[in-house]
Amino acid sequence: MSNDNDSDLTVPGRACGTCTMCCKVLYITDFAKPAGRWCSHVKPGLGCSIYDQRPQTCRTFLCKWLQDDHMGDEWKPERSKFVISQMTEGGNLLIAVDPNFANAWRRPPYFAVIHRWILDGAAQGRFVFVRIGERCLALLPDGERDLGAVGPLDRIAVSRQAGPAGPVFTATVHRNAA
Ligand code: SF4
Ligand code: SF4
Repeated sequence: MSNDNDSDLTVPGRACGTCTMCCKVLYITDFAKPAGRWCSHVKPGLGCSIYDQRPQTCRTFLCKWLQDDHMGDEWKPERSKFVISQMTEGGNLLIAVDPNFANAWRRPPYFAVIHRWILDGAAQGRFVFVRIGERCLALLPDGERDLGAVGPLDRIAVSRQAGPAGPVFTATVHRNAA
């Protein structure tokens, strides 16, 4: 999306190149593009056919791989088949997966790292979600929750209560809460 990669936030030397994965897996609300389907303006592997007129969302988007030098090339979205980005809510992470490879994030080496994010993040009130098309999963320290279809204007809230065997987490979808 941000194929010019001129942001100060991008790891030096890192660029989208042939990757166009975010043009498939994310919602683009500017023109009602659904998540999990290619944008009608993309040339997969080549880039955006309306590059100079692309919406602001596309201009400013940076995936985590572009910004995090701890993530090796195996995390590049065109290779991993998922795009990780920061959600607007309080540092939560979204893993948006290519529906043709819905379990890609569960494979090694990815899940061991994601599991660490789940545990470390929850300790600071940050959570990890997976989007596969319309469907979302909440990856909580005490297990996975399938939230079903979650739209671009819906918001997910996670609460935590003490339980007999440790904290119990609950994920709730608030519809049209944006
Ligand atoms: S997913 Fe990341 S690397 Fe791939 S095109 Fe989007 S911003 Fe660039
Ligand atoms: S408008 Fe261009 S940059 Fe934005 S999602 Fe579509 S193809 Fe990608």
